[in-house]
Amino acid sequence: MRLRLSGGLSISPAIALHEGVILSPAKPLMNIHEHQAKAVLKGFGVAVPRGFPAFSVEEAVSAAQQLGGPVWVVKAQIHAGGRGKGGGVKVVKSLEDVRAEAKRMLGMTLVTHQTGPKGKLVQRLYIEEGAAIARELYLSVLVDRETSRVAVVASTEGGMNIEEVAHDTPEKIITIQIDPATGVFPHHGRALAKALALEGDLAKQAGVLLGQLYKAFVEKDMSLLEINPLIVTADGKLRVLDAKMGFDSNALFRHEDIRALRDVTEEDEKEITASNYDLSYIALDGEIGCMVNGAGLAMATMDIIKLYGAAPANFLDVGGGADEEKVTAAFKIITADPNVKGILINIFGGIMRCDIIAEGVVAAVKEVGLKVPLVVRLEGTNVDQGKQILRDSGLNVIAADDLADAAEKIVAAVKKAA
Ligand code: GDP
Ligand code: MN
Repeated sequence: MRLRLSGGLSISPAIALHEGVILSPAKPLMNIHEHQAKAVLKGFGVAVPRGFPAFSVEEAVSAAQQLGGPVWVVKAQIHAGGRGKGGGVKVVKSLEDVRAEAKRMLGMTLVTHQTGPKGKLVQRLYIEEGAAIARELYLSVLVDRETSRVAVVASTEGGMNIEEVAHDTPEKIITIQIDPATGVFPHHGRALAKALALEGDLAKQAGVLLGQLYKAFVEKDMSLLEINPLIVTADGKLRVLDAKMGFDSNALFRHEDIRALRDVTEEDEKEITASNYDLSYIALDGEIGCMVNGAGLAMATMDIIKLYGAAPANFLDVGGGADEEKVTAAFKIITADPNVKGILINIFGGIMRCDIIAEGVVAAVKEVGLKVPLVVRLEGTNVDQGKQILRDSGLNVIAADDLADAAEKIVAAVKKAA
């Protein structure tokens, strides 16, 4: 399956739909809040409205006082879009209303089409000066893996209904490709202005903005930058009114400033634990929990589970150099998932020794217990010691000889238990 946008861009099915139009890049991705994203952009000279984050009603009111008014916007800060439609963005005209909206939003569970039905707890706000909007445009920048270029996606139809635009009138969404080897040229700016139907000074502003956004995107190793809406103000200025920003986690080691913006309360608990232990983990919706070393073997394991008629509950690669602690953490992550009805551990001990894996599994089971069938397939370095450790442990572990045998056994065990 491929997603085709107008202008010939096609993006591989790289996981989740972001604010409607764009497929966000594959994990690992670290998202930040709107107010943080705007601060990052400001550092690159981008014009953004003035504003302050607030963690309490009092902070919200004093932020509003500092801004001066006469119009303010109270914005819930969560790592999801669609806040406007869910009651998480309010334009107000008095300090009393700032207070009232701040009181209403802080501590509320905001449900939007991007949060899922469980919603997200609002723990911080952004208080911003209100803008007089003449037009709402759409602009995003992302890595197009297919063409190995930076794609700039633009539409004149920005704002809260961009999903419908993407669905009903995809021709209104235009893509401009930038070759990272040569960067932004003036013609890219002109193409963007045309895509956004901007003329005269506004077209010039679009060119400047594109240069700033591109520089920010590349220098900070972003995977996705989405501005919806980008507005034309009543007095003819181009302004970034909303900003979503995601970074390539593999590049965060060289961006201490960005890493400091991480808000773990917005992240999936299992994924946080996984990242703390340097495990690659992605939750899926099947019933067989998998612990595997190596991404290729993990993929093969998932495939063969499907072949035998079940579905994986996760992708989990413990990596080549896992120790007992890492294996224990991985095991805990899997067992914490209520959907998991059986566990398959499939390890090829190359760098990693099978006895270490076995010890990790035994330690983890002793700590968290084992309520579902567990099949273990070990192969490679110290495999005999590994198998011996499992046998001696007295745990109810089903041993398997190869990948097919392992998949068959876990699927059978889960079906029997059901
Ligand atoms: P989202 O719904 O999570 O994408 O939040 P946005 O930050 O995009 O805000 C949603 C909508 O609120 C925007 O599309 C605007 O129509 C409106 N809005 C946001 N800020 C202002 C502002 O300063 N003035 C006015 N008039 N409307 C605003
Ligand atoms: Mn928005």
